[in-house]
Amino acid sequence: MSLPDFQLARPRTLPEAIVFLGEKANTRILAGGTDLLPSMRQKLFEPEHVLDIRRIPEIKGVRQTQQGIEIGALTTLAEIEHSPLLKKNYPVLTEAAKTVASPVLRNMGTIGGNICLDTRCLWYNQSLAWRKSCGFCIKKDGDLCHVAPGGTKCWAAFSADTPPALLCLDAEIEIVGAAGPRRIKLSDFYTGDGATHRRLQPNELLTRIFLPSASAGYRGAYRRLRIRGSIDYPLAGVAVVMKKSNGHIEGLRIGITAVNPAPLLIKGIDSLLSGTLNEAAADAIAEQAARTAKPLTTSALTPEYRREMIRVFTKKAVLALSRS
Ligand SMILES: Cc1cc2nc3c(=O)[nH]c(=O)nc-3n(C[C@H](O)[C@H](O)[C@H](O)COP(=O)(O)OP(=O)(O)OC[C@H]3O[C@@H](n4cnc5c(N)ncnc54)[C@H](O)[C@@H]3O)c2cc1C
Ligand code: SF4
Repeated sequence: MSLPDFQLARPRTLPEAIVFLGEKANTRILAGGTDLLPSMRQKLFEPEHVLDIRRIPEIKGVRQTQQGIEIGALTTLAEIEHSPLLKKNYPVLTEAAKTVASPVLRNMGTIGGNICLDTRCLWYNQSLAWRKSCGFCIKKDGDLCHVAPGGTKCWAAFSADTPPALLCLDAEIEIVGAAGPRRIKLSDFYTGDGATHRRLQPNELLTRIFLPSASAGYRGAYRRLRIRGSIDYPLAGVAVVMKKSNGHIEGLRIGITAVNPAPLLIKGIDSLLSGTLNEAAADAIAEQAARTAKPLTTSALTPEYRREMIRVFTKKAVLALSRS
């Protein structure tokens, strides 16, 4: 499958990139390109312009600030995985980053690309010839959904590994456009609709991720389900962070991915905890996570199995963290 024709721009500064985005409609941003380029080959994206942001130095790297840690959107997943600062303070993020794809893809793929990753579905991530023969759908070129016939919403699953970890850490992101920068909670970035899953205007780009110091020191775990153990997108993923003091649990947050059109934080778990965690509380928390997961037949594994694995991963991870 060949790449469609496009014009490539390679700005060296952020203002240059913003001006370009403001002037040229139908532009796609290229960071590591590990998802963008395969999607372009499948004609899922057919941009006239591609804006390669890899030469912009100010949005690379991990650095400590007075409020916590700031990560440039162009920081690679390998750098996140190996960062001593992140490993020490936000281990759930390094755990999640090291499960993405393979070492080669983590060397190229960036955290910004992971946060902005397109949603995935069996009926969508296919060649043009395949989609043409089976019929186009709401997400691209059509007006029906093969997964939920009769509906008007796309249920393609958001399938990136780091966002549930970032949600557990109460991360915020900076988005820059012609109107200047805006800072929002990561949880407000996702719409919950698989077709238009990000709140990002065509003339904007994601520049930075902020991790607050209040979230430092939480222990963390990340578990995920995939078909090929060595290299594959998750089909269900659970991130858990926990803070303990004198044997008591002071804070517990759980994020899930790959089972809904957006990564989600599990609500209502505080009321299921009473400072300590026994088997019954772990079961109740796992049940709450499984209820939040709404997988449909968007992948090769059944929705029932994927939802069940959310329950299993959640229970195992909360018990393991409470005992460590
Ligand atoms: C075989 C294979 C296996 C994979 N397995 C996994 C996996 O297990 N887990 C997982 O999470 N991902 C997986 N991926 C997807 C991908 O490699 C990662 O998600 C990676 O982090 C994407 O980052 P990137 O920099 O390469 O993004 P790109 O491909 O450059 O971009 C991805 C999307 O984000 C947009 N974008 C990128 N940066 C910005 C920005 N700063 N501002 C606004 N928009 C932006 C692009 O326009 C594009 O739409 C896999 C990919 C492949 C090919
Ligand atoms: S969930 Fe429906 S609309 Fe969305 S990609 Fe799949 S088939 Fe298409």
